[in-house]
Amino acid sequence: MLLEVRDLHVEFRTRDGVAHAVNGVSYEVDAGQTLAVLGESGSGKSVTAQAVMGILDTPPGRITGGRILFQGQDLLTIREEERRRIRGAGMAMIFQDALSALNPVLSVGDQLGEMFVVHRGMSKRDARARAVELMDRVRIPAAAQRVRDYPHQFSGGMRQRIMIAMALALEPALVIADEPTTALDVTVQAQVMDLLAELRREYRMGLILITHDLGVVADVADRIAVMYAGKIVESAPVHDIYKAPAHPYTRGLLDSIPRLDQKGRELYAIKGLPPNLTHIPPGCSFHPRCPMARDVCRTDVPPLYEAGEARGSACHFWRECLHDH
Ligand code: SF4
Ligand code: MG
Repeated sequence: MLLEVRDLHVEFRTRDGVAHAVNGVSYEVDAGQTLAVLGESGSGKSVTAQAVMGILDTPPGRITGGRILFQGQDLLTIREEERRRIRGAGMAMIFQDALSALNPVLSVGDQLGEMFVVHRGMSKRDARARAVELMDRVRIPAAAQRVRDYPHQFSGGMRQRIMIAMALALEPALVIADEPTTALDVTVQAQVMDLLAELRREYRMGLILITHDLGVVADVADRIAVMYAGKIVESAPVHDIYKAPAHPYTRGLLDSIPRLDQKGRELYAIKGLPPNLTHIPPGCSFHPRCPMARDVCRTDVPPLYEAGEARGSACHFWRECLHDH
C-alpha cells in the first residue's frame, strides 16, 4: 500500500478552546488509484492532507494520535531529515490558489527548472529544457516561448496546469490535490480534471483529490471518503455511492448536485451548518442536521459499520438509508 492513514487525530488551539479538527480518520491509497475526499469546509479533509504532507507540525495545529504510513514507513516517527526527503520527492501537493502558491517574481520556467537543479543536480540549461517539456506535457500552448513568462501572465486554468507540472516534476508516488479546480469556471474545471486523471494513469501515481463538490469526482475517483466534523462518515467505491448512498449526509450531498435531467427542479440543500469543532454534538455529530435522526443518534456515536463490500457507513440506520434511495 502506498499510503495508509490510521486513526489520525489532529487538534488546534483556538481562543474558544481546543478544536477537534480530525477525529480518528483512516484511509488508504494505492499506486495508480484515486481517492476523493469529500466534505464541506471545516470537515477536516484539508487538515488530514496537511498532516500527510507534514505541513502542520507547527502550533497551533498538533497531531495527537495515529499513524501515517508512506510506503510502509511511519512518517510521524522517522527522522526529520528522512521525512523532508520524502516530502520533496515522494509526494507533492496541488493547491486551489495557484497564484499564491507560485512565486510571483520568478518566471514559470525558472520555478520549474529549479526543481531539477535542486533535486536532480541538473545544469540550468538542461533544467530549462525539462521545464519546457513539462509545460508541453500539461498542454500549455507555445511552451517554448511562455517558459519566460511570470505566473500573473497566465489565465487561471493555465496557472493550475503549471502547478500540476510543478507537482509532477519529480514524478512523486503520491499527489494530493486540494480543491484544484474550485477557483476555475466549469469548462476549464473539466479540462484540468481530465488532465489530472490522464497524468495519474500515465505516471501510475496515487492521487488524493480533496473537494467539496461531489459533481466533479464521478469520472476520476476510484473511491470516495466522505468527511464530516473530522470523521469519515462514508467510504465506498465511487459507483456504489452514486447508485445509493449509505449515509444521510452523503445523500444530502448527492441531492444538492445540479442535474441536467432535472432542470427546473429546486435544488436540495442540507439544512443548517457544520458544527463548531470546539463543541462537536454528542452521539452522531450530524444529528442536528439529519432528516433521519432519532433518539439514539443524540447519545450513541455510530461506529463505521460495514455496509457492504469495501464499504463503510457511520450511520446507525445505514440499511434504511441504502434501501430508501
Ligand atoms: Fe442521521 Fe442518526 Fe444516521 Fe447520524 S446516525 S446520520 S443522525 S440517522
Ligand atoms: Mg480546505
